[in-house]
Amino acid sequence: MKAIRVNEFGPAEVLRLENVPDPRPDLGQVLVRVKAVGVNPADTYIRAGSYAVKPALPFTPGWDAAGVVEAIGDGVTRVKPGDRVYTAGTLTGAYAELTLCTEAQVHPLPERVSFAQGAAVYVPYATAYRALFQKAHAAAGETVLVHGASGGVGVAAVQFARAAGLTVIGTGGTEKGRQMVLEQGAHHVVDHRAPDYLAKIISLTGGRGADIILEMLANVNLGKVLSLLAYAGRVVVIGSRGTVEINPRDIMGRDASIHGMSLLVAPPAQLAGIHRALFAGMENGALRPVVGRELPLSEASQAHEAVMEAGAFGKIVLVP
Ligand code: NAP
Repeated sequence: MKAIRVNEFGPAEVLRLENVPDPRPDLGQVLVRVKAVGVNPADTYIRAGSYAVKPALPFTPGWDAAGVVEAIGDGVTRVKPGDRVYTAGTLTGAYAELTLCTEAQVHPLPERVSFAQGAAVYVPYATAYRALFQKAHAAAGETVLVHGASGGVGVAAVQFARAAGLTVIGTGGTEKGRQMVLEQGAHHVVDHRAPDYLAKIISLTGGRGADIILEMLANVNLGKVLSLLAYAGRVVVIGSRGTVEINPRDIMGRDASIHGMSLLVAPPAQLAGIHRALFAGMENGALRPVVGRELPLSEASQAHEAVMEAGAFGKIVLVP
């Protein structure tokens, strides 16, 4: 089969399309014929060698794929050949024509969700769910600021929050991105590049502030968004690419809290709940991943450059 291989850590050009042996499923394993692969910012950190977890070289990147079960190993009972699935991590890497998974890593993909959308499910939607419900304990009637709503995690958070009865304020850096965020269910959109946008957010909440802030770029924003919090507000740090200075008094005076979160360390019981929520939301149409761009698998390096550029519009997906 063809697969993207990383033989050394480095810039996007280290992603090479190579021929590798087809994997075969062993006891408890599932082989998936990949129809689409989701590109996540973390894939680029791992490729560069700057992530908390460094895989042994050479490796095939990627957690998120959608496709059809090709074969199963002994003992597998939850899926059978021909089933449509999305993956939540893999054993051999998602950027490939075939990917080997444990049985626990494959999950049913409802018919109404395309393979390209299925590749946009796991990391973005699981992250958004965990941040909103398992960290911030979002409740209907509250107001959430999705700070960075035009990308993969942001769109997912907007859809989840809207379906759960929150008032949703989303931000995006382009007109096209903000329009899409409105279409996906935000009640209000704001340009996070406009000089006066923090004041605009406060006025959208009637001066009260947001109950929840989902922060996609904490190194740039954490110091300033704390003053947007309502009493007992919660910030969930989802993304950060450096350090930041904050004034602790901004949270003390509000009885507020800052939560860190990483999908990588989510306990199995929470992950089980997450997958149930993802399936239910996809099945009834509340969750509709937005695929902004599809590229052939051979253009993985272009996809890695694009996912780090400004002007996000949902997900970038690779097609083997
Ligand atoms: P993405 O699709 O590339 O989207 C990035 C988002 O950040 C876009 O909405 C972008 O808006 C926005 N953004 C850019 N500049 C901003 C600013 N100054 N203020 C606020 N938002 C800004 O990435 P993603 O997949 O949604 O992931 C978002 C972040 O979360 C990444 O850093 C990723 O590594 C991290 N993440 C963490 C976890 C975890 O477990 N903690 C899981 C998944 C992702 P425009 O492009 O429209 O300006």
